Amino acid sequence: MRLPKKPNSAIKRFIMTILFLALSALLMAGCGAGQDAGGAGSGKLKVTATTGMIADVAQEVGGEDVAVTGLMGAGVDPHLYKASYGDVKKLDQADIIFYNGLHLEGKMAEMFEKLEKRKPTVAISSRIPESQLRSFPGGGSQSHDPHIWFNVKMWISATEVIRDSLIEKDPEHAEGYKERAAAYIAQLEELDRYASEQIATIPKERRILVTAHDAFGYFGDEYGLEVTGLQGMNTMSEYGSKDVSSLRDFLVENKIKAVFIESSVPKKAIESVIEGARSMGHEVAIGGELFSDAMGEAGTEEGTYIGMVKHNVDTVVKALK
Ligand code: ZN
Repeated sequence: MRLPKKPNSAIKRFIMTILFLALSALLMAGCGAGQDAGGAGSGKLKVTATTGMIADVAQEVGGEDVAVTGLMGAGVDPHLYKASYGDVKKLDQADIIFYNGLHLEGKMAEMFEKLEKRKPTVAISSRIPESQLRSFPGGGSQSHDPHIWFNVKMWISATEVIRDSLIEKDPEHAEGYKERAAAYIAQLEELDRYASEQIATIPKERRILVTAHDAFGYFGDEYGLEVTGLQGMNTMSEYGSKDVSSLRDFLVENKIKAVFIESSVPKKAIESVIEGARSMGHEVAIGGELFSDAMGEAGTEEGTYIGMVKHNVDTVVKALK
């Protein structure tokens, strides 16, 4: 089918003009001192969160009063994540920003410091007492394990931080934030009980969780598993052949039958350990995939925080029991 040439190019020109105007408006809004422009369009509070887990809680607590944008999708490793141009814009336009803190978003720290001067930029881990934080082995005093979401009790604390920050920023909708947070926290308490009860069904001597990187320390502490990871708490640290051989020996000595891979860490590392154990005559199976630093695809059960934790608990129990 052929369209007459003239109107076609006129339409093109028209579209280009609209796009140009829209882009200019966006840029101007972005530069507008960064203050909340009243959330003009939708009237909803604009929330930007780093990880999917945080975005999920912000949506649960914020409900219809917020428009949540998450920066990191399924399978994304937050330790290595660098903000794209689009992300900078989303952060710039937000009324309030939530991030994990404890150096999880290692490459974005400076950006948060800058944003903090212009709008509420909240580390959701901020209320966990330092005495409850795990230290990085060999790390300095200020290096703590950032993977707090696997202790559901700590995630309740994070939910409260999000609730209170939303109320402070948007007091008009305080009742809604309080109600939804209370309902969500009740679900988290249920999840916490579920995790304890399920892990307790694994025979004691088999409660050893071996994964690619050390994301499950809080999970192990809270629910009674010994945890060993090939890589440190940070996927930025490369694993070496010494790590592979010491983990291999650990598997052989403790007769460990299953190890776990992670959605946001390449499989290669853990596979070389399995290969090493096999060469020593010890068969190790992959017990399944755990969600560590990112949730599953949006729209699936594992695409929510609660679904992700349940999946991990069920996968671990099934493989080790
Ligand atoms: Zn991690």
